[in-house]
Amino acid sequence: MESATVSRPIRQAVIEKDRALFSRQPNLTDYAAVRANFDWSSARTMLDGLPGGQGLNIAHEAIDRHARGRRADRVALRWLGKAGARRELTYRDLQRATNRFANALSGLGVAAGEAVFVLLGRVPELYIAVLGALKAKCVASPLFSAFGPEPIATRLDIGAGKVLVTTEVLYRRKVEALRPRLPNLGQVILIDDGPPIAGTVRWSALMMAASEEFVIPSTGPEDMALLHFTSGTTGRPKGAIHVHEAVVTHHVTGLYALDLHDDDIFWCTADPGWVTGTSYGIIAPLTHGVTTLVVEEEFDAQTWYGVLAAERVTVWYTAPTAIRMMMKLGAEAVRGYDLGALRFMASVGEPLNPEAVVWGVEAFGQPFHDNWWQTETGGIMIANFLALPVKPGSMGLPLPGIDAAIVERTSDGGVRVIDEPMVQGELALKAGWPSMMRGYLHEEERFRKCFVGPWYLTGDLAKRDADGYFWFVGRADDVIKSSGHLIGPFEVESTLMEHPAVAEAGVIGKPDPMAGEIVKAFVALKPGYAESEGLRRELLGHARRHLGAAVAPKEIDFRANLPKTRSGKIMRRLLKARELGLPEGDISSLESDER
Ligand code: AMP
Repeated sequence: MESATVSRPIRQAVIEKDRALFSRQPNLTDYAAVRANFDWSSARTMLDGLPGGQGLNIAHEAIDRHARGRRADRVALRWLGKAGARRELTYRDLQRATNRFANALSGLGVAAGEAVFVLLGRVPELYIAVLGALKAKCVASPLFSAFGPEPIATRLDIGAGKVLVTTEVLYRRKVEALRPRLPNLGQVILIDDGPPIAGTVRWSALMMAASEEFVIPSTGPEDMALLHFTSGTTGRPKGAIHVHEAVVTHHVTGLYALDLHDDDIFWCTADPGWVTGTSYGIIAPLTHGVTTLVVEEEFDAQTWYGVLAAERVTVWYTAPTAIRMMMKLGAEAVRGYDLGALRFMASVGEPLNPEAVVWGVEAFGQPFHDNWWQTETGGIMIANFLALPVKPGSMGLPLPGIDAAIVERTSDGGVRVIDEPMVQGELALKAGWPSMMRGYLHEEERFRKCFVGPWYLTGDLAKRDADGYFWFVGRADDVIKSSGHLIGPFEVESTLMEHPAVAEAGVIGKPDPMAGEIVKAFVALKPGYAESEGLRRELLGHARRHLGAAVAPKEIDFRANLPKTRSGKIMRRLLKARELGLPEGDISSLESDER
């Protein structure tokens, strides 16, 4: 295999690489030297900026600068649709299409700074809409198409969505009935053709009428570009604000953490409804001018191997749940495919088991390279790099330009950096990299609480070893990671409480060998309702209808009462400890409790 980069493919504490076997010179070889010489303002010179010194716009860096140069006719997006459909857009094609969409938005009276939401599967229109909105200086917000009506309406409401781009089916199923709750939503654009539907316009008509010439207006690096929703333990979802300057991080991390080279065929399997699918499914590969694959089908191991082989994918960015599902089929299932082009594999989103890293060597001749980041950081912060040794189970080393530390909170409200190796604390990053969130929309207080002195506190617990590698321990809060999707227990509890039978609900993440965690709910019923299998199924159905399959609980148990603090907060931690048979910890604040 051309790309075999591993000299000792056996289970071991450190996987060393034989550099003689790399098919290309990695972008980062001398980690210490690159780190020492790195600064973000010099990194910005890797990008062009808008012509005439008009600032920095993500869409210009991703599309227009290539469309004007030698990459104009290179395939930017290669879309593999369901049932064998295939469509390619060169950088020039993408420039024209996004110009049209930017003009269409102006034609609809949508102004700079207004939010354009996209609720679509992985189809070319999604990419055109997001990038076209960025050209028009609108705020782009992709939503996961498997969300149910509630999460969609909540996010459109928080973000004051002015425009929604979706399909007729998704609109009818998930949005139409909720429209009266969304007074800001002025325009719904349906990407498919069909007879008129009140309150919507059709994509093709809009695009046909729009000019394919568009000049990106002057864009400040701090102008808001993207709104990505994430979840906390309590309250509504948080809209993390990202600005155009974030593109500097997208580009630099594409260079160092994903090792993107000019001629790569890159495949990020994440859905753009989540931040990975935007930062690395749309922006980073395009700023590097590579060909990026968009695969509409959901996961299926054999289909994915077929795509890797047939499309000659060189760099593959995927996620632990998918890797674990592939492992289940065994390395043998990979054998029939020619994966000789594949030279780098990375993973993100949830803990990657050490076995999975090593299995990469067995099945693909190279390890999976785990990396770490989150919605708030906008881009990869900690990574296992191609040219460096991989420690299976570790998230790797901080990117050049990123200072990461393990800290503990002190009694005076500050934090102390823990220097001793392998001592657990909270993972913190020194604030100031370009893709750091600039706020949670309308939630100044929640945003402020993330920072102590120079540090941004990530909410993750971790350790650092003597070589500087970071090791994930768990979340400091109650949010749930299921198949890589971050789920706020409060959103699930609120929906369950809307059912007439439910008096109280508490939701936890229950460990699962495939999905990492599954959502499990505990409910106490109102007087007059009795627990039964029928009611359990009804509640599961209710949650699925309102929240969508990706967010709804997979299991519901009944309880006579839920453990609560004296102030009435449900103690999810205790529910979880009991579910898992773990020690109950400090229960001094426990008020009511009937098990
Ligand atoms: P999100 O904001 O949805 O991208 O979720 C971010 C969270 O996912 C992080 O704060 C971590 O809890 C988890 N996460 C992301 N990458 C990793 C990783 N490589 N290992 C362990 N947890 C991860």
